[in-house]
Amino acid sequence: MNHASLADYAINDENTRGRKHPEEQPGYRGQFQRDRDRIIHSTAFRRLEYKTQVFVNHEGDLFRTRLTHSIEVAQIARSIARTLRLNEDLTEAIALAHDLGHTPFGHAGQDALNKCMKEYGGFEHNLQSLRVVDQLECRYAEFSGLNLCFETREGILKHCSPINAGKLGEIGERFINGKQPSLEAQLTNLADEIAYNNHDIDDGLRAGLLNIDQLTEVQLFKRYYDLVVSHYPDLRDRRLTHEVIRRMINHQVSDLIETSISLIRQADPRVPDDIRHCDQALIQFSAEMREFNLELKRFLRQNLYLHYKVHRMTTKARKIIRDLFDAFMDDYRLLPPEHQGHYLSNQEKTGTAGAARSIADYIAGMTDRYAIGEHMRVLNPYHTNETQ
Ligand code: MG
Repeated sequence: MNHASLADYAINDENTRGRKHPEEQPGYRGQFQRDRDRIIHSTAFRRLEYKTQVFVNHEGDLFRTRLTHSIEVAQIARSIARTLRLNEDLTEAIALAHDLGHTPFGHAGQDALNKCMKEYGGFEHNLQSLRVVDQLECRYAEFSGLNLCFETREGILKHCSPINAGKLGEIGERFINGKQPSLEAQLTNLADEIAYNNHDIDDGLRAGLLNIDQLTEVQLFKRYYDLVVSHYPDLRDRRLTHEVIRRMINHQVSDLIETSISLIRQADPRVPDDIRHCDQALIQFSAEMREFNLELKRFLRQNLYLHYKVHRMTTKARKIIRDLFDAFMDDYRLLPPEHQGHYLSNQEKTGTAGAARSIADYIAGMTDRYAIGEHMRVLNPYHTNETQ
């Protein structure tokens, strides 16, 4: 990354707060390129291919997975970062890592695991993403985790409850004192929102759970639907959908860039810490776009996330997570040997809460299909070992 092209308040290799375990400067890459590369080579990153957002992984080959979602977020985030002269490598690293801590089966899995862990400190996927990069990846001789730079970790932790924030030290401080993360973290968070709102429309249409008529109730969709139809009256199906969605994404990204440029201009930051001490985020949508987005989210919730076919899937998913958690809590010897080891060492350090945490780590790391298979292997009495 050429520092000369970055804004003064962008994060760069000189102003980074660095890594927990000091390491030599990379030879030909920047610090945040190294972070991004470590994330891409991690085990948790490869698992994203078989984890879902809304649909279960085996339901269709063309639906977004967490991997393709993360790549779409990175694409949107990098475009915004480049336009605002912010650190593209950092935004890419945050985008590719932001969902590493997600459980199998999307939000249904996370809610179920959070309920299982209620008495043991709960389960938050953002916190789990940080746990993956700070502790759970085992690849390096000298440290656990990936030893990422502070700013990459700060961006991964986009939400956190005050109780958990209090246990995290420097990285959790902003959730207690109401301060902001870097602009790179702020924009990646909103790039995530742009990506999933739009691709959930696309996947919902592809799955036949949504139709175009319903979608024209949504103002932002209707605006571009009418425009595309007036230019191309004979356009149908996939091409029509895509022509509408690409315009929606472009409008959201442009709105975000323009609104943020004017907020940054007003705040006039000189260094990254000026951003952190602002009372409000400087990367924002306009008030009008926030309204559009709210309407779109409400629509998706009502018509897609609560669709009975999705609900059937999420109900099964919650059961799988709950059953596995209970079975392992009842008898840890059902765990694979490596995880029995984690269970016992965590139990020794922090008692039952630690033991439960090691089970949550195991379950959260599962892909959709692994969780389904494990449920069968552990709990189906007619499933024989030969078919494992
Ligand atoms: Mg996401």
